[in-house]
Amino acid sequence: PSVFSAIEMAPRDPILGITEAFNADTNPNKINLGVGVYYDDNGKVPLLSCVQKAENMLIEQPAPRTYLPIEGLAAYDKAVQELVFGADSAVVQEKRAITVQALGGTGALKLGADFLKRFSPASEVYISDPSWENHRALFESAGFKVNNYAYYDPATHGVNFAGMLAALKAMPRGAIVVLHACCHNPTGADLTSQQWDQVIDAVVTAGLIPFLDMAYQGFGAGIAEDGAVVRRFAATGVPLLVSNSFSKSFSLYGERVGALSVVASSADEAARLLSQLKRVVRTNYSNPPVHGGKVVATVLATPELRQLWEEELAAMRVRIKATRDAFVQKLKEKAPGHDFEFVRQQVGMFSYSGLTKEQVAKLREQSIYAVDTGRICVAAMNSKNLDIVVDAIAKVL
Ligand code: PMP
Repeated sequence: PSVFSAIEMAPRDPILGITEAFNADTNPNKINLGVGVYYDDNGKVPLLSCVQKAENMLIEQPAPRTYLPIEGLAAYDKAVQELVFGADSAVVQEKRAITVQALGGTGALKLGADFLKRFSPASEVYISDPSWENHRALFESAGFKVNNYAYYDPATHGVNFAGMLAALKAMPRGAIVVLHACCHNPTGADLTSQQWDQVIDAVVTAGLIPFLDMAYQGFGAGIAEDGAVVRRFAATGVPLLVSNSFSKSFSLYGERVGALSVVASSADEAARLLSQLKRVVRTNYSNPPVHGGKVVATVLATPELRQLWEEELAAMRVRIKATRDAFVQKLKEKAPGHDFEFVRQQVGMFSYSGLTKEQVAKLREQSIYAVDTGRICVAAMNSKNLDIVVDAIAKVL
C-alpha cells in the first residue's frame, strides 16, 4: 500500500452536486436556480462591453507576459484601493491602506486568513449563521477555529439583529469577525444603515478584527451605497481587512480578479504589513495573473469605460430587482395565501426563499433545481422562465 491508498473520498460540494444533477436532466425546460452566477435575461453569463473594449485596447498594444510584481499590477492595486476606500479618504491620503491583487475574492480571503494566522495566531474566527459555504472551510484550512454568530432569522426572513449584536458583544477581544459588506450570501438579508452603526460600534468597543467580504459591490443599491460600510469601518481607525471580487461586478468569473486591502494605523505600519503580505503571496503562488487585472485597471482608469461599466453594472442590478418584483407579484397571483413579500426586501443575487428541503426536492421532480436550504439565485430567473418557476413553486407549497 502506498501513502495514497488509505485516502478517503472527500465530501461532495453540495452546490456542484446540484449542477451535476441538473446537467444529467434531459428535460429541455430544466432550470438551475442553484447557481452563484449572474445570468442575463437570455439566460447567458454576460460579457460586458466595457471588458470587450478594454481587451481591444490591450490587443492594440501587445505586451510580453512578464511576471507581475508580487503584490500585482500597480495600476490595478491603486484603482481598486480608490474604488474600495475612496481616492480622497483619509486611509488612502495618509497611505495607511495597502492593496494587493488576489485570485478572486476567494484568493483575497485566503491571503487575509494566512496573514492573520501569522500575526494573530490565537484569534478565533466568527462567520455569520449561515454564510457563504466556503468561509468556514477556508479559515479552517488556514488553521483557525471557526464559530458562527447569529444572523438569519427564518421567522422574519430577515436578520436576527438582537442575536447578532449580542454575539458580537460576547466575542473575546482580538476575535476575527467576517462580515458581508453587502448582498449577504446566501440569505439576501442585509443590515440597515442604523444597524451597521451599532455593529461598527460593537466591533470597535469589543476590540474585534473586522474582515469585510465584498463580493457583490454594485449588486445591491449601487457602487457607492454598497461600499459605504467599508468606508465607515475604515474611518474608525481600527485594523481592518477587506476582500473584494470582480467576478460578479465585471462578470469576469474565470479570470480570477479580486484584491485584499488592509488598513494600518500609520504609513510606516502599512509598509511593514505590505512586506509581510508579499511573503504570503510569494509562498503561495509568487504573483498573480496579468490579464484580468489589466482589464479591470483599464476600465477603472479610462473615464468612458468606467462610465460604461457603471451603466452595465446598474443594468444587472436593475434586472435583479425587477425579477424580484415580478417573482413576488406572480406568486401573489398563483399562490394566494402565501406571503413572499420579503423577497423584495432581500438584496443582491440570492434569496433565502423559505422553501423547505422537502419542497426543494419536489421542485426537482419538475426539473427546477435549488439549494436544499431554499437558496435561489434570483439572477437565474428571466422573462422566459419565470412563469415556469412560479407555477412549479405554487405546486409544492
Ligand atoms: N465571498 C462571498 C460572500 C461569495 O459569495 C463569493 C463567491 N462569489 C466569494 C467570496 C468568492 O468570490 P470569487 O468567486 O471571486 O472567488
